Amino acid sequence: RLFGSSATFFAKELQIEKTASPKPHPEYESLVFGRTFSDHMLEVDWTAAGGWGAPRIVPYHNLSISPASSSLHYALQCFEGLKAYVDDQNQIRLFRPEKNMERMISSCARLSLPTFDGKELLESLKKLLVLEKSWIPKARGYSLYIRPTCISTDTTLGVGSPQAAKLFIILSPVGPYYKEGFNPVRLFADDKNVRACVGGTGGYKIGGNYGGTIMPQKQAASKGFAQVLWLYGDRQYVSEVGTMNFFVLWKNEKGERELVTAPLDDGTILPGVVRDSILALARKEHADEMKVSERLFTIADLTKAIDEGRVEECFGAGTAAIVSPVKGIHFAGKDYIVPIDEKLNAGKFTSLLANKIMDIQYGRKPSPWSVVV
Ligand code: PMP
Repeated sequence: RLFGSSATFFAKELQIEKTASPKPHPEYESLVFGRTFSDHMLEVDWTAAGGWGAPRIVPYHNLSISPASSSLHYALQCFEGLKAYVDDQNQIRLFRPEKNMERMISSCARLSLPTFDGKELLESLKKLLVLEKSWIPKARGYSLYIRPTCISTDTTLGVGSPQAAKLFIILSPVGPYYKEGFNPVRLFADDKNVRACVGGTGGYKIGGNYGGTIMPQKQAASKGFAQVLWLYGDRQYVSEVGTMNFFVLWKNEKGERELVTAPLDDGTILPGVVRDSILALARKEHADEMKVSERLFTIADLTKAIDEGRVEECFGAGTAAIVSPVKGIHFAGKDYIVPIDEKLNAGKFTSLLANKIMDIQYGRKPSPWSVVV
């Protein structure tokens, strides 16, 4: 649903104010994720009384908002994460950006923030990208991370529906998640802290879902684990890993070779764009090799399968790394070892997926998923 609302801003009304002091571009090899920002940003303001204003491209700048803004108090804030790539023909490309627009509108709606027409935000973003093209690093694995955000700028401490909001987009050049091939990780399956529960907001990309994950993540890191494997419910269902969706390729209890990930219907799982792409690719191109399932499975199912040698591969999936191979899971005081192909430093299917998706993102393989700007 690209039409979030009949009330929207319009890309054709976009105003552009260029910076008088462009920044030097960084050494792309030394980039740290999310620290460097381009010269310009996009901003659109909304009020309940006046609706949306015109979108503006302006020099990157600090925001001035009231300390009473309800985004600062009640987490009335949502965001997106996608990337722009430059292909071999020097064209800018986006990967399934309409999915991010759709998800942003659903997050806004969940928080009572104003919605808009996703096509208008996408068109405005494209204009920003054209202006900032020099900030998109060109090598394979490199990209420009795009962070659309919507915050309440309402100035009352009353807990209520925002009467004012700001939508903005900032851009950050990023390097490959894995500089020297994959780096498989060990996960801490957390049986105390829960990321999302049934009836909660896990299915939306809202800041409120993330703040509470930092402390458990730090605790897992202090024990030597790279990420938390999030579980929930009395039966300890496996949900996501860190800020990625989680996949297992195994021989299930019925003896079927199955690619499995948690389902979206109970609202605990973020509907990842890479998750959806992997499911679609597996169903289209690997249907004869594996069954593809979105269904609940528990940590007990997973650890039992590892013990019985039925697990082939486990991996996280998300925009940042595409796929992140897993080599071990720690649960209830015990370490479980997940197989990794020594040469690939990942599972075979994990590595194949990374290459297939990257080929599409960088325009090496024609696909309707890759949108030329
Ligand atoms: N789960 C969570 C909790 C996330 O924050 C993300 C990153 N947006 C994902 C999964 C992966 O989503 P995507 O494939 O759209 O990047």
